Amino acid sequence: MLVDTGFPGGAREILAAAEARFGSGSRPEAIVLTHGHIDHSGNARVLADEWDTPIYVHRLESPFLNGKSAYPPADPTVGGALAFFARFLPRQSWDLGGRLRELQADKVPGAPGWRWLLTPGHSPGHICLFRESDRILLTGDVLLTVNMDSWNALMTRKCELARPPTPFTIDWSAARASLKELAGLRPNVIGAGHGIPMSDSDLPERLEHFANNCRTPRRGRYVGQPAHTNENGIVDLPPAPFDPVPFATAAALFCAGLALGAGYLDEKKFK
Ligand SMILES: [Zn+2]
Ligand SMILES: [Zn+2]
Repeated sequence: MLVDTGFPGGAREILAAAEARFGSGSRPEAIVLTHGHIDHSGNARVLADEWDTPIYVHRLESPFLNGKSAYPPADPTVGGALAFFARFLPRQSWDLGGRLRELQADKVPGAPGWRWLLTPGHSPGHICLFRESDRILLTGDVLLTVNMDSWNALMTRKCELARPPTPFTIDWSAARASLKELAGLRPNVIGAGHGIPMSDSDLPERLEHFANNCRTPRRGRYVGQPAHTNENGIVDLPPAPFDPVPFATAAALFCAGLALGAGYLDEKKFK
């Protein structure tokens, strides 16, 4: 099984890594997506075609991957490093076509010994994967091992337990409940969608402490009220908050343009 596929453009790298690890001509039985955001589903279609493999997602995530609905819009007003960039990203609407399948209960295709659990909050049909025998937990974006709200942590890649990527998380009370459920698994190893894997001996205790004390952002579109979605996509959204940054950026560019224009004219006059 391959879990998640990265941003578009990474297929060659994944194919080479799979071949180096499992031998040439090998292919997974299934691609399983923790959720459909573009940094997780970006190469799913290309790889599925190359390997002739189905792509599995949860039923509640499928409308955002079969062309029925766009994801709820990102919230750039929530604050932090990632939120700053979120306002410049296009809204994702994506169709993985006939390769898409819904996960069936209590079964991870191509991976005996693993189970999946529904962990909504970051996205509606987000799942995590867990193997009881060695307590390995793959958390997608519901729990990270790098703090994407911090400019400093993004540069240094400092390893720490961190909440889901804030601008793309659409239901904070569900996200907190999902974190507590993960803590109850007492994992020995955590592999997250962002950040390097963690396997410290006190990881179960640290995760429990983190889940009980994790703060939601102070403000933001989805903090007080979640986005509601169902099998067909978006049902309703909290109102969009005012975002001053595009206006401030436009004003700054306008002023810079004026200054450059004036400088240019002055120079011509001088000559
Ligand atoms: Zn995500
Ligand atoms: Zn992600």
